[in-house]
Amino acid sequence: MAACRLCLMTAHEFAVNFAEAETLGYLGADWIEAHCSVPDGFDKGRPFIPSDWQLQIILNHYRVKRSAKWNPDRILLAPAFTYRRSQVVAPQKTGKGPLAAALTALEAAGPIVFGGWAEGGEVYDCRDHGCGCGFIYEYEPGDAMGIPRNTSLIQLVATSEEQVDNVYRPLQAMIRSGPLDAFMKTGEQFVRLPNDGKIEAVTSSAQSRLGNPINFANFDETGIYTVQNKMVRVAETMRRGLAGMGGRSIEWTNPWDPAENSTAQRTYESRSLDIYKFYRKPSTELSYKNARERRRIHAYVYKGSPWVDLDAIEAEAAELMETDPAQAERFYGNRIVHGMGSWLKDGLWDAAYAAEDLASKPA
Ligand SMILES: [Zn+2]
Repeated sequence: MAACRLCLMTAHEFAVNFAEAETLGYLGADWIEAHCSVPDGFDKGRPFIPSDWQLQIILNHYRVKRSAKWNPDRILLAPAFTYRRSQVVAPQKTGKGPLAAALTALEAAGPIVFGGWAEGGEVYDCRDHGCGCGFIYEYEPGDAMGIPRNTSLIQLVATSEEQVDNVYRPLQAMIRSGPLDAFMKTGEQFVRLPNDGKIEAVTSSAQSRLGNPINFANFDETGIYTVQNKMVRVAETMRRGLAGMGGRSIEWTNPWDPAENSTAQRTYESRSLDIYKFYRKPSTELSYKNARERRRIHAYVYKGSPWVDLDAIEAEAAELMETDPAQAERFYGNRIVHGMGSWLKDGLWDAAYAAEDLASKPA
């Protein structure tokens, strides 16, 4: 097993099935460590070092096609990458928000555009890109190289303002406590980036920014984007805006209720080969109703999230099992489970499909 490039020790517990050189992910993860800090908890303020599962997502999302060709007059954007977009399905409290915040910062100012293949001796030096932090990354011959965008237009998407905060709060903390603060201005509503760039929120109640050209979108909790709350259409409209700009996106979600035909479900069931899907499914041999087996499920789906206290997860799951076992199994067991939450009134399911039929008719 090869040593990991990041920690230079033993290989991580996962393996990517492509060459290390064919991704901007190692550079991206190093950039995150140098520019972003842990936003909360006991390690608040320490460098944000992606854990195994987080690194696996980064390496795949930034996987570069071997066939990508560098041409400074015609820079390849999304088509340089194996995946046009990614989906992360993971349980509650596993650390999706902080990783989404770190990747948003990376997209805002980091080397996320394919910049050719290294011949040897090349470096990524932050000073060449307006950041005085001193970060330097040395490429090995054959490595995919990265450059930042001149202007980054980024949107954080969620169903509500509170939900946007899942990513916006940690992002604010990361910017304010590190070198990014020198050239990004964080406000309550949006982050101002160099060269008229911007990170802003789009919610179901604030869709006025919908349709703006953007380079990157972060979709939070797509398992609750439905036709009724209009978020399915928001996500589709935004993906069209991304396509026009050669942009890419990531969606994050808990497992969904398959009765709702959410954006998360549509993505997961899509046959498109250019969507990277990260989803650690627990063994079907284990029953979530059995407390001992439930613990084994938690140990598996929260693996690599050392900040999670499995006793606390079990306590929350056990309580939720009393009133809404399906939701408990989705939230903490990381399984796609049928079952209507108490908030979904009878008949809404049928109404959703009726509305969708109308929406899909040509105008
Ligand atoms: Zn820097």
